[in-house]
This record gives sequence, structure tokens and C-alpha cells, in this order.
Amino acid sequence: MIQIPCNSCGKENFKTLFQKKSSKDEIFQIVKCKSCGLVQVNPQPSTEEVAKYYSDEYFTKRTDRGYDNYYSDKIRFEIERVFRLNLEDLGFFQWEKSLTGSKRTIDIGCAAGYFVNYMKSQGWESEGIEIAEGPVRFAKEALQLNITKADFLNWDIERKEKFALITLWASIEHLHKPKETLEKIYQHLQPGGRMILSTCRYGVLAWITGINWRYMNVPEHLYYYSLEGLIRECKKIGFKRISSITYGSGMTARKNSSFLYRISKKFMDWFVKWTNQGDMMAIQFEK
Ligand SMILES: [Zn+2]
Repeated sequence: MIQIPCNSCGKENFKTLFQKKSSKDEIFQIVKCKSCGLVQVNPQPSTEEVAKYYSDEYFTKRTDRGYDNYYSDKIRFEIERVFRLNLEDLGFFQWEKSLTGSKRTIDIGCAAGYFVNYMKSQGWESEGIEIAEGPVRFAKEALQLNITKADFLNWDIERKEKFALITLWASIEHLHKPKETLEKIYQHLQPGGRMILSTCRYGVLAWITGINWRYMNVPEHLYYYSLEGLIRECKKIGFKRISSITYGSGMTARKNSSFLYRISKKFMDWFVKWTNQGDMMAIQFEK
């Protein structure tokens, strides 16, 4: 692990927030950049050092999200339902209707390709890119999707055509080079094209729960953006913010939970969405 300059502003002036143990009993430091405020794991483990955290088990047993088996139809339908809700809340469908000609989209960090599959079913020329082997195999074999196993930053498309839509669903927090990834996305978008990204949101709920915040998973999550911080980051590159939403109260869906828990969760989910204090966020940008 080595200390690296802040990915967003390039400075090396950090304030330590916590030290946290990973699922493999390694200790990581979560720091906040004193110049730009970006919360991050630093010193940072290399790509090789985090690889062991992404075994096949990572995808089959997402216990943090209450998944039994990520590859089951039930989970796939549920995830596709959430994608549709997010797109609707972001006002994506109005823009989609205005598009003419062929529509190309790519999902970066597509996991088992559920968003790729959803967009394909909506008539898009849809593809994905993912680095983890298990989900790529599933996406290609079981769902017959167009998926490339590669690191987006090392991936050079020989084809010169650009995309109308590029998505990053809950993947920017996992990336070693988020800023460089956003810059590359910008290059691959057609003028007027859109980028939609979602990630956990470092805001009120994260401040209250601190080290125990449900998304404070080290070292899988390397970067923790605030809503304003992420919008600022994208604007620096040239993106224009179109819309944003926040959701999620921090109460995870649990199996066999009590009636009271389920009612409280429903209320809290509604409340944070209404007050715009959810600990997840999705933002739509235009090039
Ligand atoms: Zn910084």
C-alpha cells in the first residue's frame, strides 16, 4: 500500500477519519482530503492487493445487500426494477424519446450485465465492460450479452463511433482512478450524449453512522463522494448536470425482519428521499 496524492485535486494533505478492519482483517485508513474534501482510502492498496476481495463469492453472496444469490432470476428482476425506477426519477425516458437513429450504450463495471440486458430489451445496442471473471462468464453464457472483460482505462475501442449513453452503476467507488475514468467517458460520448452514475453518498447519514456506515466497506470502496463533490468533479471535466436523486435510508432490507422494522424502513426510505438525504445517489450528466 502506498500513499497517493488525492485523485481529485492532486494535493497530499489528509485528515484521518477512521481506521477500519476489512473482512480479511487487514487495517485500512479512511482519510479526508483537506483541500477538496474527498473521502478516500489512503494509503491505497494496489489493484493486485484488492483482487482477493473480489472472489466469485463477492458476487454470489452480497450479504451487505441481503442477496442470497446474485445470479438468480429473482435478484436480476429486482435489480432491473431499481434501474428502471432510477431512470424514471432522473427523467431519463423523456430524453430517450427525443433520440433519433441508432442508440448505443455501454455500462462500465457492468457485473453480470443486468443493466446491459435491460437496455437491450429496450431496443438499445447495448454492451458492457467488466474486470471480474465470474460475472463476465455469466453475462456472456447465460444472458448472451456483448461484454468485454477488460479494464476500461486500458481499453481502446478501435471502432470510432461514440456512445449516446454511458453508465457507471455503483462502480466509481470501487475504481482506483475515478477522475481518469470520468475523463475517458467524456471522450467516448457523442455531443449531447449522457452519462448516468450512481454511488454511495457521503452525507448526513454517513456522518451520523461514521465508521459503521453501511457503505464503509474497505478496501472494496476506495472513494466516498458527497453529492456536491461529485457534481463539481464532473463539471471540471466539462459535463453539465441534468438531474440528480438520492435514496436509501441506511436501513438494509433484511430477511425475516419484524413488521415494525419493515414499517420503519418504509417510512425512513420515504423520508430521506423527500428530504433529499439518501445515502445513495444517482446523477445524470450531459456532454
Ligand atoms: Zn483533494
